[in-house]
Amino acid sequence: MVTGGARAVARCDALGVAPYSDMEGGLFRAWLTPAFAAAHQAVNGWMAEAGMAVRTDAATNLIGRYEGATPGAPALLIGSHIDSVNDAGRYDGPLGVMLGIECVAALNAAGKRLPFAIEVVAFGDEEGSRFPATLSSSSACAGIFRSENLQLADRNGVTLADAIRAYGKSPDDIPAAAYARDEAAAYVEVHIEQGPVLEARKQPLGVVTAIIGQTYLNVEFLGEAGHAGTVPMLLRRDALAGAAEAMLLGETLARETKGEVVATVGRIAVAPGATNVIPANVVAIFDIRSGSESARAKLVDTLKAGIRGIADRRHLGLTITSPREVATTPCDAQVQDRFADAVLALGAEPLRLGSGAGHDGQAMAKLCPIGMLFVRCRGGISHNPMEYANPQDLGLAVAALIGFIERFEPEKLG
Ligand SMILES: [Zn+2]
Repeated sequence: MVTGGARAVARCDALGVAPYSDMEGGLFRAWLTPAFAAAHQAVNGWMAEAGMAVRTDAATNLIGRYEGATPGAPALLIGSHIDSVNDAGRYDGPLGVMLGIECVAALNAAGKRLPFAIEVVAFGDEEGSRFPATLSSSSACAGIFRSENLQLADRNGVTLADAIRAYGKSPDDIPAAAYARDEAAAYVEVHIEQGPVLEARKQPLGVVTAIIGQTYLNVEFLGEAGHAGTVPMLLRRDALAGAAEAMLLGETLARETKGEVVATVGRIAVAPGATNVIPANVVAIFDIRSGSESARAKLVDTLKAGIRGIADRRHLGLTITSPREVATTPCDAQVQDRFADAVLALGAEPLRLGSGAGHDGQAMAKLCPIGMLFVRCRGGISHNPMEYANPQDLGLAVAALIGFIERFEPEKLG
């Protein structure tokens, strides 16, 4: 099984350079670019070699099907994305596809057919690194693609509709990419953790409990500009001092949840923004995430009330809006348990953890039950050329995925 891990790594590495990258000296493979087309060709060959019938759907997803014991049976979908961010690591995405191919290759070599089919899906767009939308192609598979997104343009003014046409597909056919509910038994994905938890716990694999939900809060404080030398401290209405207090409150409240909720302010805008002027207007954007909808909602409510108190006490104007809210996507309990059984059978501890990053499973959950298996990555580093997962861990991931497949009983799912 470790051999499969080494080959998966080698293939991800091979896809990390030209012609599979459009970036000199690094990896950048955006949806429907020349690098993407080249990657499609390579992955297509690997899928076919593993014993799959390969097709490209109307939304440009590459799909390899390994028939079950009965032809036409519903499929267990195993997938991830083959697009990347700019200056990416080599494993975020392609790894999940390569490991799916390794599983099928192993089953095929053993002449094993299952009561269900397996379809390995290489999604085209998860990262949204070319058009300003994410999860486009998994949304098409799940039947929730938004046709208005076809008019979105990339940096060169090329619309998504034109890019799909140039790829030899018709945007009008995208609805045909949707799986019927009874064609998909479940969707599972193996992905690098993109965080430090597994490494810290010295575990190679983790069972994902949920792809965690997210609230953005746009908090705007309105104070009064004034001379930094002449206005006495007690007469000031300093919007930035108010925002600073609000940020510390967010940090304190999140820390009190002991890991259940994380809260970040990664961006503030200060006006007028001069060293000798009291800040009059500050916008701070809070990014609040948790695997628990109730814990996140509770923190958001407490934070908003606290921020109102800060603004009142400091005589600041205040507006709070929530431009974006993403619900938590739970992983199916049965799928989690079967993954945990498979990991345990390999002698590892089936650590359960939430995913702080978004994944194609968020779209696929609208179609069928989903589950994810995380693989330890070095230093928790991702979206960075330093990204690395070791072949031994990936060999275990292939074994765990095969163990999952052997234990999977579609009829026991909701
Ligand atoms: Zn990814």
